[in-house]
Amino acid sequence: MELAVGHEKKNINNVFNTWYLDNKEVTFSCKPFKGMDICDTLIIGGGIAGLSLKYMLDQNNISSILVEQNTIASGASGMNGGFCSSGWSLDQEIIKKKLGLKKSKEFFQISLNGLNWLKSICKECSPSISQFKEGILNVHFSEKIKYLETLSNKFNENYGVNNIFLKKEDLARIINSPLYSSGILDNEAFQFNPLNIMLYIAEKLIINNNSIFEYSKAQKIKKKKSEFYIEISNGGVIRARRVVLATGGYLSEISGININKYLFKFITSIAVTEPVCSKTFKNNISTNYAIHDNRRAGNYFRFLPDGRLLWGRDIKSVGKLSRNQIIKGTKKDLKKIFPSEEKNINNISIDYAWSGQLGYFSNLMPLVFKNSDNLFYITGFGGHGMNTAPAAALLIKDAILGADRNLEIFSDFRPQWNGGLLGKYFAELYLQWLKFCDL
Ligand SMILES: Cc1cc2nc3c(=O)[nH]c(=O)nc-3n(C[C@H](O)[C@H](O)[C@H](O)COP(=O)(O)OP(=O)(O)OC[C@H]3O[C@@H](n4cnc5c(N)ncnc54)[C@H](O)[C@@H]3O)c2cc1C
Repeated sequence: MELAVGHEKKNINNVFNTWYLDNKEVTFSCKPFKGMDICDTLIIGGGIAGLSLKYMLDQNNISSILVEQNTIASGASGMNGGFCSSGWSLDQEIIKKKLGLKKSKEFFQISLNGLNWLKSICKECSPSISQFKEGILNVHFSEKIKYLETLSNKFNENYGVNNIFLKKEDLARIINSPLYSSGILDNEAFQFNPLNIMLYIAEKLIINNNSIFEYSKAQKIKKKKSEFYIEISNGGVIRARRVVLATGGYLSEISGININKYLFKFITSIAVTEPVCSKTFKNNISTNYAIHDNRRAGNYFRFLPDGRLLWGRDIKSVGKLSRNQIIKGTKKDLKKIFPSEEKNINNISIDYAWSGQLGYFSNLMPLVFKNSDNLFYITGFGGHGMNTAPAAALLIKDAILGADRNLEIFSDFRPQWNGGLLGKYFAELYLQWLKFCDL
């Protein structure tokens, strides 16, 4: 079976060829790091966290080098659903309960800053690259419609947003499933092509200076006096005053770093059908909004520019997801959500199916942190990284420029030990339980 990692088809990591790779509008590649170099800040990881931070440091004339062990955006950042909305992996209501409304509002604003940063990047490039479309519709399964409407109104009031609540009859005009009871339309949220955008950012960065390197794995980090010495694969060495770990769910072992003890690595999947929008789903989906349901292990879907349906599903902590499992699971979900189309769905061809890794901490919040050694962490964005990673990058950039105090807000969310192998199986049980509750 043909598998792809990064921009090349290889049989590793259980990642299948993605629609994004086959349809990318930006070509980017750069050389591996060799020899010796010095910079102010070394960034490890070429996903949205690392790239957005590098972009911000370049704008502030802070010299930085970014190393990526595979190719730029070969991790979750180049293969995700392309949904960007405000908020965090941890529900805003839980943040409010834990920290109170004032801090919850601060967290919400930080998440919005990340969304606006990415939106501005999407708006500066051509529509064929960004494939930007405003509006994400969050649909509910619960029949407690009055309660959901009250919650939605309260959310608008608390966080100063204008989400629109849609009752069943209004919702049915744009998306028709017997399972959906109501929805909330967020017009600030948007969908986009994540791979094109990551490569676009990388291309912009490389024009200014040659400081991004692919196939360059950070292997060992050592601090000597006030400087870090970082050993890179191929025998290279980089000396830097600061190091930023932006390694997502793809963190490989780096000698001198023990974050693997805290991180949970989850797997989740996406399938893309043959072009269908004008036929199969015409009576069920008559909107270009991206759709997300509000279950923890729920579904999200949207039409791609060529009329294919992208369908995201499932999350697990143990084992892998084969191409056949993803296809079978996707058809099952589709028939459950749109039972009137059962016959058509049986005949739909699913042309792409892939899985990717998410990095989560047990509190569902990222690690945005600087230790006393000038080692920075910007990782663990879970399934909500498209806004939260740039949001965190903005804070790390400020800290590098001297405003360390901005990172203090994250002190309430320090990661706990992940429980080793037992923790992994416990997490799987918890996810299975969530899926059971979702039925
Ligand atoms: C299938 C899927 C669908 C998703 N859908 C959405 C969505 O619609 N919206 C949303 O907001 N989020 C979504 N997410 C989550 C989102 O993609 C992630 O939160 C985000 O991409 C994390 O970005 P990152 O930069 O932290 O990590 P990554 O993108 O994983 O990047 C980390 C990089 O670090 C590199 N690296 C690791 N170790 C080293 C080393 N030692 N040396 C050099 N490089 C190293 C890795 O190779 C990798 O490229 C989805 C994720 C998946 C997998």
